[in-house]
Amino acid sequence: MNSAEADLKIERMIQTQMINRDIRDPRVIGVFRKVKRHLFVRPKDIDYAYEDTPLSIGFGQTISQPYMVAKITETAQIEDNDKVLEIGAGSGYQAAIAAQLCKKVYTVEVIKKLAEFAENNLNKSGINNVEVITKSGFHGYSEQSPYDRIILSAAAKQIPVKLFEQLKENGIMVAPVGTYPQTLFRFTKQNGEIIKEHFLNCVFVPLVR
Ligand code: SAH
Repeated sequence: MNSAEADLKIERMIQTQMINRDIRDPRVIGVFRKVKRHLFVRPKDIDYAYEDTPLSIGFGQTISQPYMVAKITETAQIEDNDKVLEIGAGSGYQAAIAAQLCKKVYTVEVIKKLAEFAENNLNKSGINNVEVITKSGFHGYSEQSPYDRIILSAAAKQIPVKLFEQLKENGIMVAPVGTYPQTLFRFTKQNGEIIKEHFLNCVFVPLVR
């Protein structure tokens, strides 16, 4: 796909899948123009990269639907100086989007081949403020904690407590919680307490141990 073709498809994606729904933050919308989703899918899916759907990336995993990435990113209220942790790098697309809005993203991926896929996609995209870590993030990634934001890109029945511990005061975690379908939650840490808000239903692959 050439860049003019990609840009055309991106504008259509932003209009129909984001603005015509409920995505409002111009900062969030803007980054979808910068990060090319066709660099994060498998070669055979390039023509479908800007469609309103998740796509398989192998190993039983998927790159999330563009709208879901936008919704999660908007809900996370990421700020310029933030240090962000993502659990579940997959293709690296969510990490790439978040990285345009903050200082640094650490993204943890349990499947080695997918961690390599993510790393490669991020390199192709010229993104250099994302670090991909190959390991299970079930208990977070304490090495760089605490974080301003945590994005869980796989679904947990319950949020592992260690993740809350790795969140800064006034930090925000966005996560799909429950069994099929899950609910997207935002957890805000205030005075050591967790404030919980829920948003839409969603479907994510399960967070493994
Ligand atoms: N954010 C991704 C979508 C990821 S799908 C994207 O934008 O493409 C969920 C990913 O979570 C899968 O790649 C899966 O392997 C990974 N995953 C599941 N449990 C995990 C765990 N405990 N630690 C790290 N990664 C995990």
